[in-house]
Amino acid sequence: MTEPFYVETRDHLKEKPDFQKLVFGEIFTDYMLSMSYKKGEGWSEPKIIPYGPITLSPSAQGLHYGQTVFEGMKAYKDGNEVTLFRPDENFKRINLSLKRLEMPEVDEEKVLAALNQLIDLERDWVPSGEGQSLYVRPFVYATEPYLGVRSSTDYEFLVILSPVGAYYGDDQLKPTSIYVEDEFVRAVRGGVGFAKCGGNYAASLIAQTRANELGFDQVLWLDGIEQKYIEEVGSMNIFFVIDGKLVTPELNGSILPGITRKTVLELAQELGYETEEKRISIDDVINAHHDGRLTEIFGTGTAAVISPVGFLKYEDAEITINNNETGPITQKLFEEYTAIQTGKKEDKFGWRVVVGQEAQIGTV
Ligand SMILES: *Cc1c(COP(=O)(O)O)cnc(C)c1O
Repeated sequence: MTEPFYVETRDHLKEKPDFQKLVFGEIFTDYMLSMSYKKGEGWSEPKIIPYGPITLSPSAQGLHYGQTVFEGMKAYKDGNEVTLFRPDENFKRINLSLKRLEMPEVDEEKVLAALNQLIDLERDWVPSGEGQSLYVRPFVYATEPYLGVRSSTDYEFLVILSPVGAYYGDDQLKPTSIYVEDEFVRAVRGGVGFAKCGGNYAASLIAQTRANELGFDQVLWLDGIEQKYIEEVGSMNIFFVIDGKLVTPELNGSILPGITRKTVLELAQELGYETEEKRISIDDVINAHHDGRLTEIFGTGTAAVISPVGFLKYEDAEITINNNETGPITQKLFEEYTAIQTGKKEDKFGWRVVVGQEAQIGTV
């Protein structure tokens, strides 16, 4: 059993919003989790404090040289039960990201136990409607006031919470259109592509905006060296159904190792689909389409879980996938995945972690 972590209570709790009208990432709960790091001392004990503005020196290193990493996961409510989905994977990954950016790793079990206490405290903020959830955003940034270029000596770890509505308003999957980016790249070999760091997003915005202006929903990135091999989409990993088999780019260091990607691979195998992780070129995809062997494309990520792709443009090639409709394998995986996440279906894998049950948290 973990000792309860310190809570600094606030005088007035906020009024809860209308959970039917939530826009992603706009509203935050009453409390957040906070933990500080000082070189020589290590991380402080986590504490729960009122959500509010932070103080930061204008010379804080994170603002100048980009030592910032983040995570994203969701808590779901079914009746009175609040659950997280594979949160241990998120804290394993934040440590991978921290390590790459030469930032101090956190104690996975301790932050998970503290997050459990925070969400337990905030359980009234977890919406229970179809597709709704509480988005959980852990992040770490460098705070040392110093302009010399080297790793910061001081850091802050925070977790903030935001209730979010259903990604698909009426619960029907909607195919998106993607633009295959052939000028900008997101990540390169030996770089930070596998880390969930703010800088990767900063580098991607210009292409995302341009794709939107051209009428596309998302950007599909190609590799940073030959601009030939498929990497991933915006904030999602990507899967192709070719000859009935699920194919996704292998993790090569420049792709973000998505937890939804990993879960879809495990779930697909359980459901009897063949899966393959390999290097796949954009030409292979276009050719498979022309030969009638490419039947579905979908993206995977925490926000949408599964997002079908209906249209794809690469240079002069424009292809429509499955008549711009959600394919049967995409639909099946979405239903199975969300049924396990929300407790409607038995979780044989032990992916759901019930909030408020400390004994369970210690074992994940
Ligand atoms: C977070 C993220 C993903 C998806 O990861 P999940 O763990 O499935 O949410 C994919 N690509 C990028 C660039 C990301 O930042």
